[in-house]
Amino acid sequence: MMGKTMEMDFRPIIGLKEDKCTGCLRCIRICPVKMCNDASKEGLVTFNGDLCIGCGECLSVCDPKARYGIDDFGEFMADLKKGTGIVAIVPPAIAASFDGTYLRLVMSRTRECVILPQAEG
Ligand code: SF4
Ligand code: SF4
Repeated sequence: MMGKTMEMDFRPIIGLKEDKCTGCLRCIRICPVKMCNDASKEGLVTFNGDLCIGCGECLSVCDPKARYGIDDFGEFMADLKKGTGIVAIVPPAIAASFDGTYLRLVMSRTRECVILPQAEG
């Protein structure tokens, strides 16, 4: 069964103030996607926003506030008004909140969104 695909535009939702980073590595320790972090430079941990899933865990351990969340609520609302397709990353348990509704979206971080056909029955 093949779904249709469409290109996705990911906005960064985590920012980094490099001058504040102490290289403590706590963000890597807590990050569920280890490989999105880069500690190759002494005293600095950068990250690849294309691999980051935006869970925000690193924000909670970054004492110097080198990492910060980017508030894109205004752009989100503007996109909603325009009817732009929006993908939400949600926990599996959300299925319990949509009784009888087939979850159709399968999301990957490869800038592609696969929309599966509606389930029958
Ligand atoms: S937790 Fe913050 S200060 Fe520590 S390495 Fe990560 S970004 Fe830098
Ligand atoms: S937001 Fe989550 S996935 Fe992204 S770098 Fe921080 S801990 Fe890792």
